Amino acid sequence: MRPGSAHACEPALLIVASQREDRRALFDALDGHDFSALYTARSVDQAHALLAERPAIDLVVIDFIGEARESVAFCLQLQGMEAYAQVPIIGLLAADSTQRAWGYSRRPPGVVEWLHSPVDAGEAWARVRVQLGQDDAGTVAPAQEAALGDYRFAFDGSEDELIISDAQSGQILEVNATFEQRSGLLGAQVRGRPALALLGSEHPDAVQVRQLLERHGQCRAMCRRVRSDGGSDRVEAVTRLAVRGGLLVQVITLCDRRAVEASRRLMALLGRLHDSGEGDAGVAEATRMLADGMHLDYVAMYAAVGPGEAQPRLIAQQLRGETPADAPDPLREPALRLVLDGETIVADGDLAELSRNDGFVRAMGFATFIGLPLVDDRHNVLGALLVGTRQRWSEAVRGLRHDALNAAAARFGFELALRRAREQGRATGLLDALTGLPNRLLFSDRLETTLREARRTGETFAVLFIDLDRFKAINDSLGHAVGDKVLKVVADRLNSAVRTSDTVARYAGDEFTVILRHVAQRDDVLRIADKIVRLLDQPLALDDASELRITASVGLSFYPDDASTAERLLKHADVAMYNAKSEGRNNVQAYVSTDRDSNRQRAALEARLHLAERNGELRVFYQPQVDTASEDIVGMEALVRWDHPELGMISPGFFIPLAEESGLIVSLGQWVLRHACKDTQRWRQRYGLPLRVGVNLSALQLQQRELPGWVSEALRESGLEPAALELEITESMSLKSMPLVVDNLHALRDLGCSVAIDDFGTGQASLDYLRHLPADRIKIDQSFVRNIGTDPDDEAIVRATIHMAHSLHREVVAEGVEEESHLAFLREHQCDVLQGFLFCRPLSAVAFNTMLAERRRMLGEVEGGLLGATA
Ligand code: C2E
Ligand code: CA
Ligand code: CA
Repeated sequence: MRPGSAHACEPALLIVASQREDRRALFDALDGHDFSALYTARSVDQAHALLAERPAIDLVVIDFIGEARESVAFCLQLQGMEAYAQVPIIGLLAADSTQRAWGYSRRPPGVVEWLHSPVDAGEAWARVRVQLGQDDAGTVAPAQEAALGDYRFAFDGSEDELIISDAQSGQILEVNATFEQRSGLLGAQVRGRPALALLGSEHPDAVQVRQLLERHGQCRAMCRRVRSDGGSDRVEAVTRLAVRGGLLVQVITLCDRRAVEASRRLMALLGRLHDSGEGDAGVAEATRMLADGMHLDYVAMYAAVGPGEAQPRLIAQQLRGETPADAPDPLREPALRLVLDGETIVADGDLAELSRNDGFVRAMGFATFIGLPLVDDRHNVLGALLVGTRQRWSEAVRGLRHDALNAAAARFGFELALRRAREQGRATGLLDALTGLPNRLLFSDRLETTLREARRTGETFAVLFIDLDRFKAINDSLGHAVGDKVLKVVADRLNSAVRTSDTVARYAGDEFTVILRHVAQRDDVLRIADKIVRLLDQPLALDDASELRITASVGLSFYPDDASTAERLLKHADVAMYNAKSEGRNNVQAYVSTDRDSNRQRAALEARLHLAERNGELRVFYQPQVDTASEDIVGMEALVRWDHPELGMISPGFFIPLAEESGLIVSLGQWVLRHACKDTQRWRQRYGLPLRVGVNLSALQLQQRELPGWVSEALRESGLEPAALELEITESMSLKSMPLVVDNLHALRDLGCSVAIDDFGTGQASLDYLRHLPADRIKIDQSFVRNIGTDPDDEAIVRATIHMAHSLHREVVAEGVEEESHLAFLREHQCDVLQGFLFCRPLSAVAFNTMLAERRRMLGEVEGGLLGATA
């Protein structure tokens, strides 16, 4: 029995429907049955008022008509309430698809079933029963006691072929739509005929079915069901006796084993498609899988015409069987053009017209040809997927194959979108101008890709951090030209020391990073690192015939032994590099964990932190964010502080990691969220300003299924409108490993909140990630902003990030704006919003309030002054 439920035999139901007809129809459909209570509500607000009384509820029916944001939010809120978290929800959809504004590809949490408006009483009752566990299936069993009329929807909607025959005479009474479709025989043609005739009465299979039926009254056997065209299909027949309207009937279910098998195979295929890596090799592999898995004679993926290109580009192609010598190039035929124009071609019945127009389809003799545009998330056509086969697809597998191809097209579309973003990025600064090596952004992207692959394949790899010893001295004493030359030589030497599958990058100034893939033994890596140190140590000839000696310190860390995230791998390699420096430079050190000694201290502090919330030691500070153009306040970031009784104000940089490790971050984060929403709503009301508040979420919070429920609860409790809340997430989280994160982000955006990617550019920036995340804004990390005016590389990264973000229609916030020169640069490059000490430090809630009051007073004076002048 579920928590909150009324009574085992008399459940209670809540109906939330905005349209009177629906409410009425649902109520009438269910009223005659045994419910302990049938609550109806006109609106979500009314439903909340009802639930405030805490009645027991076993099932909710709620409509999702139009934008349905409130309904989605309601589902989330239910999930957040202990008593109702487990209550199943049936969603009611508009029959007219044009009224579906809401994203139907995602089911709101808790929704287990759908109904359509206008409500069909029989259907509603049947679905409600199934959800209440009073019935185990919606298909055959109902025929046992009720007239088929009420169950027509289930009967016709079944994926299996169903036949109902008179148990005594064996004559067919009814067949369902699936039967008609697959056999080509209409109900009118077969009604009254013996059911076994359809299974080829004289065939040994049918004889066996008859014997089994006579002996046991039911059976399960393989047989051949005839088709209208004289052929037959191999199916599995399951028959059961049932009583219908006082008559004993046989319910015969024919299930196409091949269809079941095919669907299983297709599902497996789709799973594999998504795992087939990136790049041309990945695409080639995916097309090969598609051709093999779906028995296709032709699969081709094209990229649409890109900037500076004359025609679409063939990326991968699979051809099976004979290709006639005179088959023209699809590039010159109309089908591909149509698809690249955004049209979908599905020709799997009559290909006469398509063959007439398209020479390639004609020459290949396809019986089925499908062309799907490959699009990005804004529906720009980036390419085309063409497939063809000389076989005709049977009815049983056709729908499934279309679905599978659509899924494949989504996968290829994503690949193309990623390539586009990369190409744009490359043109705007992903390569280091001096050495031609990947810069920090591109390196991070590679590292993230490597990690992802390694997680899948179990590969071991190493990250090297290489720092030139005393490079600054060279630069200062010999000049920048020499410094540049040294960096270029180092880049060449590093490249020569590694394999092509490895990555060498210029991380910053005189720091280089390397990813060494496919490590068999640690010793191999140490050997390569030693080789690097020796290579760099070779004398370097300068233009004036003098020689220069440069040395480097190298630190390294291993995946997965030392860390499992990009951030920590780099950090550890960096720590090891400093060890190498302190060992006298010009050597290699591997990372050695030294965590143990400080463990006890941390444990003590962690124990204290557990009490901080209850003891009222937590505070939320707010740092203003300003519009770049007007410099007026547009919002603020909520930053938590721990007011420790003995240690004073402790920075989150210190205790957040502790809270994350112990899982405490979840409740701490909830606390911050609730306070931030309340404070913000108060200020919005008091000062009439459309302030938006950014709240930081840690990775662990994002992995909680209840997160959207908590957020909507905090919004409801404070009265803050969802659009005024922005959740900041760091890009250091790997998404593939947490599909829930993406679901959660979608759910948060469905609520109406926005999402910002925090600390962008620090180590884990992966372009893939950026595209993947449903984000509204990007916050450029302070480490780049700080170097504006001093480090041209970091300036290039800031520029590239703004450019890239804008091309993906994301807004950009710069953090850590400390100086006028930062402001000037960011303004010139059209960064949207700024945050930093130049404008204001984080303030306590009291100080923040004072600041807003002060602002109002000053503005009032200005306005008053102006008015006075004109009057
Ligand atoms: P963050 O999200 O990147 O927050 C911005 C940090 O930069 C804040 O540090 C802020 O005080 C600081 N900052 C702002 N402007 C400047 C500037 O011009 N120069 C310099 N040098 N620093 C500036 P803070 O408050 O110490 O927070 C540190 C980190 O702790 C945050 O980084 C965030 O990752 C985490 N954090 C803070 N509050 C929360 C929270 O409620 N939940 C979670 N999960 N993490 C939080
Ligand atoms: Ca932040
Ligand atoms: Ca940040």
